[in-house]
This record gives sequence, C-alpha cells and structure tokens, in this order.
Amino acid sequence: MKKIGVLTSGGDSPGMNAAIRAIVRKGISMNIEVYGIYHGYTGLIEGTIRQLDLGSVGDIIHRGGTILRTSRSDAFKTEEGRQAALAQLRKFGIEGLVVIGGDGSSRGAQKLFELGISTVTIPGTIDNDIPGTEMTLGFDTAVNTVIEAIDKIRDTAASHDRISVIEVMGRHSGNIAVWAGLAGGAESIVIPEVDFNIEEITDKLEETNKRGKKHSTIIVAEGVCSGAKVVEMIKERTGLDTRVTVLGHMQRGGSPSATDRLLGSRWGAKAVELLASGEPVGKMLGLRANRLVANGFDLLHSEKPAVNLELYELSNSISI
Ligand code: ATP
Repeated sequence: MKKIGVLTSGGDSPGMNAAIRAIVRKGISMNIEVYGIYHGYTGLIEGTIRQLDLGSVGDIIHRGGTILRTSRSDAFKTEEGRQAALAQLRKFGIEGLVVIGGDGSSRGAQKLFELGISTVTIPGTIDNDIPGTEMTLGFDTAVNTVIEAIDKIRDTAASHDRISVIEVMGRHSGNIAVWAGLAGGAESIVIPEVDFNIEEITDKLEETNKRGKKHSTIIVAEGVCSGAKVVEMIKERTGLDTRVTVLGHMQRGGSPSATDRLLGSRWGAKAVELLASGEPVGKMLGLRANRLVANGFDLLHSEKPAVNLELYELSNSISI
C-alpha cells in the first residue's frame, strides 16, 4: 500500500492528535504517503484532503481536540454520499483508511470496507462505549477532568453544607459516571444501566445528614436525566440545600493523559501496520488486558459494551 488516509469523526476526544501523529510518522517511516482528510466524512465527500508530512504533526501530542477537525455527516449515511466519498479516495489514489471516532464512525467505516476500501478504526470517544475494547481514546482524560471538577465542587459544598449534583457526559453509557464517581468519592451514582431509585438516594442523604455529614456528591450520567431534575427531586423530598453543576463540553477537551497519549500512539502505529500488509483489511482496534486487539466489524452489531458494574457496586458499598 502506497497511500493511506486518516480522518477523525463524531465527537472529538483527547488523544486523537497523538494517534494522528503516530499514523503519519509510522506511515512515512514505512514509505507510505499519509493524507489528512479534514472534517470527518464531510471532508471525505467534499475532497478536503491534504498530504501530511513529518512536520505537520509536530507539537500536537499534548493537545486536546483534533488537528483534522471533526463532523457528523448525514450525507455519508446515504449511498450517494458514500459513492462520492469513494470517488474522492480514487481521485487521490488512497487505498486504505484509518477512521478515529466512536461507534457511529465505525459503522461508517464498515460501509467503506464493504465498498472495497481497507479500513481500520481507532476507538476515539470519551464515552468508553465501543464493543471489543475495554478502553477508548479520551476516556481516561475525561475521567480525570471530571475528578478534578468533583474535588473542586466538594471544597465549596463542604464549606456550605450543601448537596452537589454533578451531571456528566457519556451519552447512553454510565462509564464516565461510574469511574469518576468511584475515584471522586461520590456518595451516589446514577447511571442508565441501573434502575433509578430516588428514594434510595434521599434516604441515604437523610441518614448521613442525621449522622452529622452535611455535604454529599451525587453523580448523574446524562443518559438518565438532567442533573437539574435530580436536584428538584431531592429538594422536594428532603428540603436540603442542593445545587447542580453540569460539566458539559469541558469533559471533551484538555491535554490528553499519559494513558491516552500511549493508547493513541500504539493504536495509530498498529493501524498503519495492518493496512501496510496489502491484504484487504476491515478491523476495529481495541484493548484487552492491555494488549492491542483487532476485531471484525461484526462485533459492532453483536456485542454490547457493558458498564463495569463491579466498580458501581464497590462505590455503593464504600460511599456510606
Ligand atoms: P461519539 O460517540 O463521540 O459521538 P460517534 O462516532 O459515535 O462518536 P456519530 O455521530 O454516531 O458519532 O457518528 C459519526 C458519523 O459517522 C455520522 O455523522 C455519520 O456520518 C457516520 N455514521 C454513523 N452511523 C453510520 C451508518 N450506520 N452508516 C454510515 N455512516 C454512519
């Protein structure tokens, strides 16, 4: 293979730049030309494509976001859009593609593979919700960002004897909530994977309040309901001074953690190695027991990524 392309798609996540850097540097070291496709599948359809050299990925390993920009493309979900993308790949002579993005982006990658383009995906999303991998690129940084926020909110909540409800991202997954909730010492964690029981939470709050502990932290995953709704329910049932913080997009940004830089670099280099074999390849990269794995796209439709309920139970049992 002489020419490969790389694009980032869906929500950005910290570590995407580390992956892009590794793809470009590994490709060039193997005499492969690497093309950057800007703005995800939109740029692929429109032909916003430029060759990347060693210097174009200098000074980016520590930066959040993605230098290639990203997008969500409805056009790519149509046969017509994908045919336009295919025509651009042919025009530039690009034979293989690395797609960095979430599960939607991987579905798009599968469609390209079915059209005869060798495609390897890197699981890039803060949500940690992709089948076949126990970690996604950006998740570790996002969890650390949430923990930092929990620590700060705790300081002020403790000073005012307040209950803090913190709404975190994760789309339909409770992963960020569970990991950050446990690591941040939250009293309760509300996630989509477990039935929401407001009484359990308010009973606990009243009990701890009676014991003299006047502040508590409750983490709510956005996939359940808004944090504001939970505040309303707590106030109505207990009358306790309760405030909400919605962390929002700050969870997506920031300098990637060491874990995400390492993952991005390892997956980036692996993607190039797979494409370089010259054989038709359609794989989703993942991580199992800290080893890189390459799964087939069929996993996207068969295996549901599960939240780690052991961590959830552990948090419940020690946050009393
Ligand atoms: P995140 O989890 O961070 O939001 P994502 O990759 O899951 O990332 P999506 O918006 O679901 O984000 O998908 C990104 C893009 O992938 C879509 O805008 C679309 O262009 C493409 N895509 C998603 N699903 C399909 C599909 N079934 N067929 C073709 N393309 C798809």
